[in-house]
Amino acid sequence: MKLVSTVFKHFSKYMKMSEINQKFVLPQRYTGSEPSVWTEYIQLALDYKPLNLGQGFPDEFPPKYVTDTLVEVAKDRSDYTIHQYARGFGHPRLIKALAKLYSKLIGRQINERTEILVCIGGYEALFSAISGHTDVGDEVIVIEPYFDCYEPMIKYAGGIPRFIPLRPKEVSGRLLSSADWVLNKEELESLFNEKTKMIIVNSPNNPLGKVFSMEELTFIADLCKKWNVLCLSDEVYEWMVFKPHKHIRIATLPGMWERTITIGSGGKTFSVTGWKVGWVYCPENLMKNLHIVHQNSVYTGVTPVQVATAIAFEIEMERMESDDCYFVSLARELEAKRDYMVNFLVDIGMKPTIPDAGYFMLADWSALESKVDMNSENDKYNDFRFTKWMTKNVGLQGIPPSAFFSSPNKYLAEHCVRYCYMKKTETLKQAEDILKQWKATAK
Ligand code: PMP
Ligand code: GLN
Repeated sequence: MKLVSTVFKHFSKYMKMSEINQKFVLPQRYTGSEPSVWTEYIQLALDYKPLNLGQGFPDEFPPKYVTDTLVEVAKDRSDYTIHQYARGFGHPRLIKALAKLYSKLIGRQINERTEILVCIGGYEALFSAISGHTDVGDEVIVIEPYFDCYEPMIKYAGGIPRFIPLRPKEVSGRLLSSADWVLNKEELESLFNEKTKMIIVNSPNNPLGKVFSMEELTFIADLCKKWNVLCLSDEVYEWMVFKPHKHIRIATLPGMWERTITIGSGGKTFSVTGWKVGWVYCPENLMKNLHIVHQNSVYTGVTPVQVATAIAFEIEMERMESDDCYFVSLARELEAKRDYMVNFLVDIGMKPTIPDAGYFMLADWSALESKVDMNSENDKYNDFRFTKWMTKNVGLQGIPPSAFFSSPNKYLAEHCVRYCYMKKTETLKQAEDILKQWKATAK
């Protein structure tokens, strides 16, 4: 009898496991978003230890005054509140600094209490904006290539992403520049309809480094006004724009403040991606929806990081436009790194698209395909095969840019790799040596 009951208990335990597995499958709204290029490639980098030009982050210390600010804030024993919950929608010192900075940049007074929200990085800012404004069945226009999380975030909210790609112009006798990737105006116009709730614009763009021109932004803005549509403007690379290009904040175009939600990132602004501090600014009536998402999910951000970011802004605002201002020196230093990378990629036979901004570059590797065993991986897309093979066999990691396109348009970047050039000069030199050595020895 005892044996029977033990066996039964054992058996029922297994029954329960299968019942558990059946019942606790991934909710439908999340299906289709399981593979993430980041989780896969960051693990690949840990396993194979390549020179990492994949995920976007600097491999140098941020400016000393930025890290010193965090140290000073954290060890200040005169104010215990630094280590307790911050005001939910942003620490008073940070919202004040953000309001002062952006009021000047956009030429209108931003209310620090009602028109600014501090988030856990640009990611949470995107999430609060997309879920706060997308209802079931709403359409959201997404310009490709796009930062990959836009698509799942729209779908989680019950929205329908409608994609439109930037396509490269035909050019001869010179390299493509990011400005050569353009929208088809009629195609964009045809996506707008009664169900359109929002368009997401990412300028400067990740991964292309394209800075949208006044003409392009005006065209988008006019369609937003015509169809009463919101513009979610992801401007996390706002300070990394190379002359003569200029970052234009779409919220400054006539009639656009009323319908624009702008996103920024402290991680990008001060080269501290691990701080995970981001923000949103927009009119109060639009902000209310974001407040609701934020207050019931994250509620508040990391207090010492917010105060340190506020102080870093206060320092920079004192020296805006001067050569010492980090926002000026960052773009200058990045431009030199970009040029260095363009040159060595051309030397080894790749064709980069020269970025006008940001810290990423797309490069076409088709001329080198015969040197790669494209059958060693069974991924559907060639750029995944190429980048995995390169990580494992050559010791250099890039990101497959088809991850930034919807399925029908992945072909536009399947022959390319995305490299991050926000790296030390030695790292870029190492990347050059690795590629040149590979080119010289590969059959
Ligand atoms: N938008 C874009 C275009 C990005 O590349 C990133 C990655 N930094 C984010 C948003 C998210 O920013 P954060 O790292 O501050 O969460
Ligand atoms: N924005 C960074 C990139 O594009 C980091 C993305 C991430 O880690 N999820 O590389």
